[in-house]
Amino acid sequence: MIPEVFERYREMCTAVAAAAADCGRDPATVRLLPVSKTVGAAVIRELYDCGLWEFGENRIAVLSAKAAELPPDIVWHFIGPLQSNKVRKVVRLAAVIHSVDNPELLERIDRIAAEENRTPRLLFEINISGEASKGGCTPAAAAELVRLAAVCRHVIPTGLMTMAPLDAAPDEQLKIFSGLRELRDRLSAEANLELPELSMGMSRDFPAAIAAGATIVRIGSNIFQ
Ligand SMILES: *Cc1c(COP(=O)(O)O)cnc(C)c1O
Repeated sequence: MIPEVFERYREMCTAVAAAAADCGRDPATVRLLPVSKTVGAAVIRELYDCGLWEFGENRIAVLSAKAAELPPDIVWHFIGPLQSNKVRKVVRLAAVIHSVDNPELLERIDRIAAEENRTPRLLFEINISGEASKGGCTPAAAAELVRLAAVCRHVIPTGLMTMAPLDAAPDEQLKIFSGLRELRDRLSAEANLELPELSMGMSRDFPAAIAAGATIVRIGSNIFQ
């Protein structure tokens, strides 16, 4: 019996591949990260048993509880707001952190990663839309983060992340996501640092994100409902 949740995951893979093909991209260049934040360990286990091993979570307490019940080879992506007093827990559990948005946080992650003998991959969260309620640094502040990351020894800077406002129309989504790609291209050239990953696009706006160059789309509700 194929679990229903895996069927929905497969349908989303098809939708993501179709969105890539629609804009002339190789579907293999876009990865679907299942965001499992609304489901318990048992559902994640079903997907793991179907061969998936990477999941996104946005709260450290929830991630800790689930990780304790699940196989240790799961690659966790931490995608939520990160407070400095939670850094050690996140560094211990997550291989990828999508929400680094200030220099103090970056330095703290680097220091704690050294102490914990870990090397997390980091994405810098940028507030492209300028929405007040959003996490992420301004595009102007991103250059300093990238410069600093280039000299950190215990983290691997891999790209940028953003979110579009909930109510953005498709043309607005495309503008925001293209803004992230252009920022990445510029920062990468200025710092002479490869930043291959663009983590952007969720259940409601992944086609626009893929059209703008997303390499990771973070999909929750379309899989887990
Ligand atoms: C919940 C969440 C997602 C997934 O959102 P859906 O709309 O459910 O696909 C993606 N990114 C972040 C940062 C989230 O918190």
